[in-house]
Amino acid sequence: MNVKEYRREGIFFVITGPSGAGKTTIMETVLGSDNRLSYSVSHTTREKRKGESEGEDYHFIEVDEFKKMKQEGEFVEWAEIYGDYYGTSKAEIDRIEGNGRDPFLDIDVQGAAQIRNNPEVKAVFLFVAPPSIEELRRRIENRGTENEETLNKRIRVARKELNRIREFDYLIVNEELDSAVADLRAIIRAERLKV
Ligand code: 5GP
Repeated sequence: MNVKEYRREGIFFVITGPSGAGKTTIMETVLGSDNRLSYSVSHTTREKRKGESEGEDYHFIEVDEFKKMKQEGEFVEWAEIYGDYYGTSKAEIDRIEGNGRDPFLDIDVQGAAQIRNNPEVKAVFLFVAPPSIEELRRRIENRGTENEETLNKRIRVARKELNRIREFDYLIVNEELDSAVADLRAIIRAERLKV
């Protein structure tokens, strides 16, 4: 008998948080040093940004193709965000689980709610928040990627998301990167030790 069999396997980690909260940096740091985690590459209809690559950041597809996949039930969850479609395919999750890894999903609140309502999936839900809306605004401004209109839109969406923190299992407040990374590692470690 192997006592370790009592531990859970195949845990889904779902991370959500407003853009500008530093979610990507925290996540990449942790994924880079944990080979049991595997980033789930989503499908999206949005334009590819400079520096992004097909199959690594996203699978970039046309709206028609997305709709077809949706109709055929190929997504575990999907959402429309800022006018574009995003979804996690069943094929991607099967691939990750087939490799014996834990899927790590970076998705929005709407997608997280769909996973939560799926009785077949056992997932841990994490929310990454900025210390305050004012700080979030400062960070997005400093990043210099938005104009006044898109900045305000992102802030509005962020406010709505922050109102749903209670739906999550864990809250990581990103005041300082090292500490946020340590928090994420601690959560993953504890979840893997659960019986
Ligand atoms: P971005 O366009 O900046 O890469 O992502 C915009 C938002 O879409 C982020 O909040 C990100 O978490 C979310 N997102 C990315 N992939 C998916 C997905 O497959 N499903 C859902 N529901 N949201 C996603």
